[in-house]
Amino acid sequence: MTDASDSLFGGRLTIDLKAITANWTILKNKLSDRAECAATVKADAYGTGLTQASKALYDDGCRTFFVALPVEALKLCRGMPDATIYVLDGLFPGTAKTLAENGIRPVLASTDEVQEWAAFCRETGQHHPAALHVDTGIHRLGLSAAEFEEVMLNGDIREVFTPSLIMSHLACGADPEHPMNSEQLKRFKNLTSAYPDIPKSLANSAGVFLGEDYHFDLVRPGISLYGGKALDTMPNPMQPAVKVEARIMMARSVPQGDTIGYGAMQTARRDLRVAVVAAGYADGMMRRAGSTDIAPGAYAMIEGHKAPLLGRVSMDMITLDVTDISPHLTRRGAFVEMMGPQLAASDLAAYADTIDYEYLTNLGRRFLRRYASLT
Ligand SMILES: *Cc1c(COP(=O)(O)O)cnc(C)c1O
Repeated sequence: MTDASDSLFGGRLTIDLKAITANWTILKNKLSDRAECAATVKADAYGTGLTQASKALYDDGCRTFFVALPVEALKLCRGMPDATIYVLDGLFPGTAKTLAENGIRPVLASTDEVQEWAAFCRETGQHHPAALHVDTGIHRLGLSAAEFEEVMLNGDIREVFTPSLIMSHLACGADPEHPMNSEQLKRFKNLTSAYPDIPKSLANSAGVFLGEDYHFDLVRPGISLYGGKALDTMPNPMQPAVKVEARIMMARSVPQGDTIGYGAMQTARRDLRVAVVAAGYADGMMRRAGSTDIAPGAYAMIEGHKAPLLGRVSMDMITLDVTDISPHLTRRGAFVEMMGPQLAASDLAAYADTIDYEYLTNLGRRFLRRYASLT
């Protein structure tokens, strides 16, 4: 465990690429033979490393990747020339040439974007592949039903452009009981049934768990690959892929009645032993997860023991109640687990009123980052 460079960092972020590929396989095994399992690797593969995570997935057979931004797609396409890369945020003005030259496919999300892409195809005399995003109720990106039909029936556009994929995105997939799911499914089917030869995609991670009706030709999970929780309503079947550990700088006594941290928000109800740990909000430890006398906060794990946060999360450190944990485990230099196999990202996120997506994508810019097995 002792890496010489470890000692210079407040914390370390361990990413298990085997867990990510194992999770991809779990999802893939839920699909019929007809459907392809792609991977969503936007936001640096949810904080796990765009190139590392994508390469591992590619080596396991994944051939279609979704990123958010053109700049992410450019970084990705260098390492994997025969992969299909889609840009979810669509076509930014003036970028058609750069994308097409690199074989990158925008997910066209408005009539303007379709027009610009079609004009580029006409200019170059080539059918450059791109997906079409149709809105079925989330009302972020995507053509309205009327715009979609207008594009699909527009002879000038269709002469130079046929979508390589028609996709839509679920608003409420995390809640399987939500009526939006079946409503969006119905709208998506109605809109696309006239185009049996064009591949279709509706499902993110949650959509994979909603069942085969939602799978169509391709699914594009993100959070589940990284061990996150896709559905609110069932135990998470995915393997944890990320572990965050931070260093104890010192352990000290705080007498009953004294307070801990900025704002004096937490009073010691008894004599306490407090560990001061080198990870704070600048490392992605959410300030909202802090603790006060009125509202207890999150906790960290030390060899199977819960160590509750005491007081506020500050920029570079947090304080933990380790009164009931053996001093040997909380000695200076020891590491505590802030997230990982002992403490799921989704559980931790609940203490900060957020979701594991936000935790993962904000983690550890200052931490030592390493790729290793968590088991
Ligand atoms: C982020 C995103 C995904 C992946 O979603 P997860 O919930 O992380 O599985 C899929 N499709 C679109 C359009 C997205 O924006």
